[in-house]
Amino acid sequence: MVDYKNNDDEIPRDHPRYQSLNFRHKIIEGMKDLVVAEAGLIAHGRGECFDYILGEKTSEVAYQAIKASVAALLIAKHPIISVNGNIAALVPHQISKLSNLMNIPLEINLFYRKEGRIEAITKILEESGALKILGKDDLKMVEINELSSNRRKVDLEGIFISDIVMVPLEDGDRTEALKKLGKKIITIDLNPISRTALNADITIVDNIIRTIPLMIKFYQELKNLKMEELEKIVNKFNNKDNISKTLDLIIDYIKKEKIKLLNKS
Ligand code: ATP
Ligand code: MG
Repeated sequence: MVDYKNNDDEIPRDHPRYQSLNFRHKIIEGMKDLVVAEAGLIAHGRGECFDYILGEKTSEVAYQAIKASVAALLIAKHPIISVNGNIAALVPHQISKLSNLMNIPLEINLFYRKEGRIEAITKILEESGALKILGKDDLKMVEINELSSNRRKVDLEGIFISDIVMVPLEDGDRTEALKKLGKKIITIDLNPISRTALNADITIVDNIIRTIPLMIKFYQELKNLKMEELEKIVNKFNNKDNISKTLDLIIDYIKKEKIKLLNKS
């Protein structure tokens, strides 16, 4: 077993899984720095598995969901981006850039609130340039009754007053609780049939590593559109249809792999 402990250079650049190993390394380092919870490693592995059978690329269908998400965030009165340890470890600069550009606060929201984690995540986001970080001041947190765990805490200035919440890599229970509170939900989730994916209003089935830079790109494209034009984009989007098309992509991918296997001499 190769140990990718020290830096990215230890992963040979011509390795067929270079990118994937590089991000795995970020998750492992994140765990050592308290940013990522132990369970975050498992969640990452589950994501990788789905990415594999999606061909590790952003599908046309995902592009549509990304575009609709950016339009919905532009329309929203109080949008918020929920951030957990995996997100902070994988895309700290990109999520901070998106937050600053779109003027949407980041709210740290953790399943496992181990001592020092909020501080570790705050540090990485601040160092990445994030200007508005919520969820770190206990005096400003209120509890939502729909959940029993730590995640019931939400920031009074953030999720509590929000009309739309982007919750990438989120657990199904919390998504359901946020829906019950009347929030519109955008998620980024590689598993198209997770409870979160099925309950969200807009589900982007893509790797967050690719999605956030694309959201920045779409923001530049859409930022000057009129409200009616943005609404048209959101209204045209059908999440059920979108997820169903993603499932077709997975089925096609597996069928193609099966044909390749059968044709192998
Ligand atoms: P649910 O609770 O919604 O049924 P779950 O229990 O399978 O889902 P969780 O661990 O609660 O999953 O949430 C993490 C989700 O994030 C998983 O669905 C996983 O596929 C997804 N995920 C992990 N890494 C990434 C990534 N890099 N990009 C996008 N999605 C990811
Ligand atoms: Mg879950």
